[in-house]
Amino acid sequence: MAKRDYYEILGVDRKASDSDIKKAYRKLALKYHPDKNPGDAVAEEKFKEAAEAYEVLQDDQKRAQYDRFGHDGLRGGPGGGAGFGGMNMEDIFSQFGDIFGGAFGGGAGGGGGRRRRMKGSNLRIKVKLTLEEIAEGVEKKVKVFKQVQAEGAEYGDCQTCGGTGQIRRVQNTILGQMQTASTCPQCQGSGQSVKKRPSGSDEWGMVRKEAVVTIEIPAGVEDGMQLSVRGEGNGAPMGGVPGDLLVVIDAIPHETLQRNGKNLHYDLYIPFTDAALGAQAEVPLVGSKAKITIEPGTQSGRIVRLRGKGLPAVDSYGQGDLLVNINVWTPKKLSSEERELLEQLRESKNFQPDANHQEKGFFDKVRDMFT
Ligand SMILES: [Zn+2]
Repeated sequence: MAKRDYYEILGVDRKASDSDIKKAYRKLALKYHPDKNPGDAVAEEKFKEAAEAYEVLQDDQKRAQYDRFGHDGLRGGPGGGAGFGGMNMEDIFSQFGDIFGGAFGGGAGGGGGRRRRMKGSNLRIKVKLTLEEIAEGVEKKVKVFKQVQAEGAEYGDCQTCGGTGQIRRVQNTILGQMQTASTCPQCQGSGQSVKKRPSGSDEWGMVRKEAVVTIEIPAGVEDGMQLSVRGEGNGAPMGGVPGDLLVVIDAIPHETLQRNGKNLHYDLYIPFTDAALGAQAEVPLVGSKAKITIEPGTQSGRIVRLRGKGLPAVDSYGQGDLLVNINVWTPKKLSSEERELLEQLRESKNFQPDANHQEKGFFDKVRDMFT
């Protein structure tokens, strides 16, 4: 198969500068990267093609040869007409050190901006909250054990990579010598190593220390929800970026109130005499109480809605309601006097269920309330 023109592959013109070529290649490498196109043979071919074009055009000598003689100009050498194109994936990825090196943190000084800042890991804790705390929002002070740089720890350039954070290798290829770069495994690209390690600290001069972190928990959070407190996780040595503290909400069930999103439910039991005659009843609220009126003739299963007595929504505006589900209590034990009175009432016409009366089901009633 005839090879495509290298400039055409990268989409640059023949007078393109080194930085234009680099930019064009970065774009293509990101677009056709195998991680982004798993199992896509066409993308892989384009990825390799772009890497090959870049490998030639970024090298002044090879570029000059290519400009004069085209693909033939790159042939020859001991292999005899093998041509160029023997780059395998490993070569391509190690070439990335030069292309993408600057994208990783950098700015740590020295090392040509290729040093990576180290990053601390995240910490995860659970925080138990009562319904009262959830309703209002709360500030919690929690103790965490996190890694911090030990006092007296000293750092210097990594011996393995000389402080650059990169290991450079020179490979002999049919095109001559090729330099590749990869992240230094000794210092994880930071370019630094521990020179003085205080006793009790780990290989990076870090120790675990107790710290008290203040967490602002907004009102309305739900069980299992995870909040992230930036920068309060494990620290990283040498001024690296600390991880985050992940706070998982563990809601303690309330004794009498049940939660459903931002609404609260309460099951109220009233004597059937109250249901028939009407009465006042007390219902619990979060942190207080309220009185509701039972209308004469109240049926079991009626729902009373107390607007705004639920919970605030954590991710939107508004406040939920308290839904009081009224249950008429039927006595289980009767004295002989009570039995006599009820026997007298049993045959009363008003005590027979109204054949035309139809009490709606619970979900129908809830739906009616909110539509
Ligand atoms: Zn190193």
